[in-house]
Amino acid sequence: MSDRVGLVVCPEARMYDHGPQHPLRPDRVLLTWDLISAYGIDRCSNVERLSSQAAADDDIALVHTPEFIEATKRAGHGESRDWRRFGYGPGDNPIFDRMHEAAALVVGASITAAQVVWEGRADHTFSAAGGLHHAMPSRASGFCVYDDPAVAIAWLLQHGAERIAYVDVDVHHGDGPQFIFYDDPRVLTISIHQYAPWFFPGTGGLTERGGPHAMGGAVNLPLPPGTGDDAWLAAFRSVVPPLVRRFGPDVLVTQLGCDTHATDPLAQMELTTRAYREVAKEIHDLAHTAAGGRWIATGGGGYQWARVVPRAWTIHFAEMADADPPDALPATWIEEAEERLGSTVPASLSEPHLGAGEGDAEAAEVAAAVREWTGL
Ligand SMILES: [Zn+2]
Ligand SMILES: [Zn+2]
Repeated sequence: MSDRVGLVVCPEARMYDHGPQHPLRPDRVLLTWDLISAYGIDRCSNVERLSSQAAADDDIALVHTPEFIEATKRAGHGESRDWRRFGYGPGDNPIFDRMHEAAALVVGASITAAQVVWEGRADHTFSAAGGLHHAMPSRASGFCVYDDPAVAIAWLLQHGAERIAYVDVDVHHGDGPQFIFYDDPRVLTISIHQYAPWFFPGTGGLTERGGPHAMGGAVNLPLPPGTGDDAWLAAFRSVVPPLVRRFGPDVLVTQLGCDTHATDPLAQMELTTRAYREVAKEIHDLAHTAAGGRWIATGGGGYQWARVVPRAWTIHFAEMADADPPDALPATWIEEAEERLGSTVPASLSEPHLGAGEGDAEAAEVAAAVREWTGL
């Protein structure tokens, strides 16, 4: 029998919108739900569509300061002030209308994903709108207003979870959850990301390993630009499953950013959808062997919003639901995506293999260094 799976769908989250020039377009999530639905995966007998509501201030405050929440409300309601100390301003985090309300919807979606799994109503859940992993307790950062994965983890701890593993495969370091739980021995954070001195957010090096009460509770795989599918997967496989198994979490929380794709405009990794298919299997297997099947997934980065993100997250969700969609994308979806993009999109989930990347040898060295310091 297949596992029970929940797909959190909150169309109102489209209001999380920094404007037409900003790379984090709401369409990336909307087209993902559309593709999952065009394939009929959300109508499988083991899959349930879940609605969600905006998170309450008290839940957001599990991670964020009252001053920051208040500033986010005021800035998003047009109060003119210098909001820069909260991270808001021109650039990555422009102020937009009803910013608090929009971000609270995203947090609410990820809390629902956590709650449904924790209460045993589903084995796995996916909150595609979530994964805003750069927000800090008192500051917006990297397109992220509130840190929904961190709030979901804090919510689980508040409701009785004792050990949580957070695995972040976004191309950027999962700095928010790492920072927030850095000295908390109940939370293991593992992030595999592109790393170079000039690459956002600049953290996530090998020497960041957890605070004095949680040494080894933060693990980073800082890979060089130009890492390809095989080296990325080898690094993931050699480090993530054994560490999560050793930790023995009650729940596995994952951030599934797909800005690792070779065509992503904001990063320089060389992954294809083949890596997403493989890592989805790894994570799914890990959830069952190490976390009693309890797996909560969020979306994350990914800036090929029509060409890559919907396919990447459909691959992940199909794995979660034990569905096997045909490789050819539904024609109705292609038509819709091309109309919104104003250009062509790929016609299949799979992609040609790109071969070795120029960062592969160094990626293997990084993975070996992590295995060494973690005692694997
Ligand atoms: Zn399963
Ligand atoms: Zn990212």
